[in-house]
Amino acid sequence: MARGGKKARVESPAADMTLGEDDLQVKEEEETGAMVGVAAANAAAPRVEIVVEFDKSLLDCPLCSLPLKPPVFQCRAKHAACGPCAANHANKCPACDGAYERDEGADRYLLAVRVPCPNQAYGCGSSVVYCMAGDHRLVCPHAPCRCPEPGCGFLGPPPALRGHLAERHAWPVTDITYGSVLEVQMQAVEQGRRLLAAEDGERLFLLVASERGVKVVRVAAPAEEEGWYRCKVWVHAPVDTDTGHMDVQMLDGKVESCAVPSVEAAMGVGGRYLPVPSDVPAPEGGGIVIRLRIDKEVKVRASRSPRSRA
Ligand SMILES: [Zn+2]
Ligand SMILES: [Zn+2]
Ligand SMILES: [Zn+2]
Ligand SMILES: [Zn+2]
Repeated sequence: MARGGKKARVESPAADMTLGEDDLQVKEEEETGAMVGVAAANAAAPRVEIVVEFDKSLLDCPLCSLPLKPPVFQCRAKHAACGPCAANHANKCPACDGAYERDEGADRYLLAVRVPCPNQAYGCGSSVVYCMAGDHRLVCPHAPCRCPEPGCGFLGPPPALRGHLAERHAWPVTDITYGSVLEVQMQAVEQGRRLLAAEDGERLFLLVASERGVKVVRVAAPAEEEGWYRCKVWVHAPVDTDTGHMDVQMLDGKVESCAVPSVEAAMGVGGRYLPVPSDVPAPEGGGIVIRLRIDKEVKVRASRSPRSRA
């Protein structure tokens, strides 16, 4: 569709205005591949939003198929291109050989097209600028985590994953309280992992005991958050025969996030782990005894100090 579609008329009690072509374009008929978005009128206040169905191909670069992001370019024949594609083609349209020029009108309407977050189905209520949706996806707190059981494709936010793992795959789940010491006796049959649930199951952690060592990760897609988590985890070494003192080996560090609660994924996300000495005494009943304590830390705002604990 060429630019210059049907003008949309938006009425509200406060204002009666007609949007210009550059503010938004509305496709009249439904098409396959059409997407629902919210176009914000960036004309005079008050701001009015309407829901429109949009041909997605108009929002993507025809050369690389990625979302068109300002600065947008077009040739005389109105063939659009994103900035990187225009540069890659020496500023000449590969379709008609015309020189590219900046299209500031396109910049304006692209920044006004908003869509629901792709994680809406997992509880995210954000609406995001279409061409910036990839940025939001990286920080969306509702990004789903994946079930690690072979052949199971379950995806869901941490509370749903907890229920799924407990009910469908009979994973044991241990409830924890921030700031309290938990003693866990891990058995070989647990395959070196134990699911820990905090805040009534809203937050999930995974304790893993692999051959390399012991580690705690948070089960969550990596996302920006108000707080962060810190974990102390330790094991007792044998009593020193000279001093009679029982040494401990301890790790105290930030908890990394991992979207798949498996031993391999947890060990692979970076961050520290506790190497376990080979002479750690086995408890009665076998396995290994691990003690840990998780604390939730609140990010320090520039204006607020000292650090407060939740
Ligand atoms: Zn492109
Ligand atoms: Zn062209
Ligand atoms: Zn989101
Ligand atoms: Zn599953």
